[in-house]
Amino acid sequence: MRLLMEQSTKPLEFQATAEWVKRLAGDYYHVRFSLTKPDTISFVAGQYVIFDLPPPKRRHTMSLVSTPSDHHAIDILQSVAPMGQGSKWVLGLKPGDPVSFVGPVGKFLLSEDTGRQKVFVATGCGIAPFRSMLLDYLTTGRNSPVVLYWGLRFERDVFWQEELRKLVAEHRNFHYHVTLSKPSEAWMGMKGRVTDHIVDKAPALLDSEFYLCGNREMIVEVRKQLTDKGVLADQIFAETFF
Ligand SMILES: Cc1cc2nc3c(=O)[nH]c(=O)nc-3n(C[C@H](O)[C@H](O)[C@H](O)COP(=O)(O)OP(=O)(O)OC[C@H]3O[C@@H](n4cnc5c(N)ncnc54)[C@H](O)[C@@H]3O)c2cc1C
Repeated sequence: MRLLMEQSTKPLEFQATAEWVKRLAGDYYHVRFSLTKPDTISFVAGQYVIFDLPPPKRRHTMSLVSTPSDHHAIDILQSVAPMGQGSKWVLGLKPGDPVSFVGPVGKFLLSEDTGRQKVFVATGCGIAPFRSMLLDYLTTGRNSPVVLYWGLRFERDVFWQEELRKLVAEHRNFHYHVTLSKPSEAWMGMKGRVTDHIVDKAPALLDSEFYLCGNREMIVEVRKQLTDKGVLADQIFAETFF
């Protein structure tokens, strides 16, 4: 299956400044950086950048959550749950702080629009590349069916619901499900791990493309479930975050 690689560009070194840091929910933070040098970027939804952090850890890999049509700023989504150097760096960022990064890089891109259903499967911050893909894909008039399954733990972790509901309202070819592994009794949505639902719920398995992003365990498990059902390896794309 041919990927949209012709759109991707060579990675460059960028300088930027932090514009804002917004806590979305639980451990999740949305950060915007304004580009200063060069002051424009071209990327394909699904790609990532690598920030230079102060020593001892030098590199911090983050997917872009912004839309490729925004050429003067980039957005990232940070889960600070690991509380490693990258998490602490994001928590310490103030508007105006200078940062540098290399990018864009990565091959976790949507395939050419084949008309097949696209099934996105995310755990936690694995939603990051899918936000960029959804904003780009749906708002540029492409109309293959897209369904997102997003696994989180608690109600307090859930975010971007207003934006996702708006996409559902505006695009008949998109719907999504949040599944919580540790919901309260009041939770009316799907329950359990995301891996409990894909094979049973996603219709037309053999005629879909699957995009998996998040922790390695989920990716290994879903890939096995799918291939056991006869889904071909070239219908499955994955980005392992940790
Ligand atoms: C291609 C790619 C894209 C990525 N995009 C994102 C992104 O958009 N948002 C994002 O938050 N992270 C993303 N990551 C992970 C990111 O690079 C960091 O590992 C993560 O953000 C934690 O950074 P840290 O410095 O705080 O901890 P680290 O020192 O990197 O990690 C500390 C420990 O926590 C584990 N870990 C890392 N992330 C998590 C997590 N979310 N939950 C539980 N354990 C974790 C690591 O495996 C390690 O054992 C991406 C990774 C890759 C390879």
